[in-house]
Amino acid sequence: MSDAFSLDGRKALVTGANTGIGQAIAMSLAGQGADVICAGRSACAETVGNIEAAGGTASDLRLDFSDPMAAREIFEDESIDILVNNAGIIRRADSVDFTEADWDDVIDVNLKAVFFSCQSFARSLMRRGADGAIVNIASLLSFQGGIRVPSYTASKHGVAGLTKVLANEWAPHGITVNAIAPGYIATNNTAALREDPERSKAILDRIPAGRWGAPADIGGAAAFLCGPAARYITGAVLNVDGGWLAR
Ligand code: NAP
Repeated sequence: MSDAFSLDGRKALVTGANTGIGQAIAMSLAGQGADVICAGRSACAETVGNIEAAGGTASDLRLDFSDPMAAREIFEDESIDILVNNAGIIRRADSVDFTEADWDDVIDVNLKAVFFSCQSFARSLMRRGADGAIVNIASLLSFQGGIRVPSYTASKHGVAGLTKVLANEWAPHGITVNAIAPGYIATNNTAALREDPERSKAILDRIPAGRWGAPADIGGAAAFLCGPAARYITGAVLNVDGGWLAR
């Protein structure tokens, strides 16, 4: 019987795979049989080590999106079938004081790099006549406003929109394009929130599941969206948030 969740024989590239959600996604994809290129501006040796220790296959690649076009040549390796755009940053300041640098840095990594990485990947798939899957990491702030994070919110609303336009254009080529909107997940990205007792309590009180998410909660959803079971799913933004948005 074929396994609708198997990624055997597929090659995936995950950005920001050295830590947090990206690390968990890389490990989940490898757990389903994918050969995973763990891309990071920092070394992904820990992620590769975890995957190999579990019997999987992975490699480490340096990729820094302070140049948002950094992935333009990566897909000349014409064997990559899955792209997960996970790398992302956040800057917090009152909108009235927000600087141009905090706007540009976040938009470059979270939105411009995502679009041009998707474009390079899709061009490679189309050249080969191959199918493929893209998963973009969005946010609750693809739907909500947040507070003191204007460039992050703009970028993540943008990621949701991009996911839909690319899904529409590339479905005829057999390329699915979906996004995951993680809720509040315990990673470096949310360390400041978890260290603020008032904000932390307010957040936890609103999560129906009654806990912060773990990076592995996102990993499983990403593996599903990349596999055969999800081949008719495209243009979706899947909330993985312990019920936050339902409340
Ligand atoms: P994280 O632990 O801070 O990881 C962010 C990742 O992005 C790291 O691998 C980081 O590399 C990488 N990155 C940052 N700037 C980069 C650049 N210029 N080039 C390449 N890679 C870069 O945070 P996380 O929570 O796992 O975040 C992963 C994704 O999930 C982000 O897109 C984030 O917006 C999204 N997200 C997170 C949450 C949450 O609650 N944690 C909620 C919604 C969405 P370094 O380690 O080298 O900095």
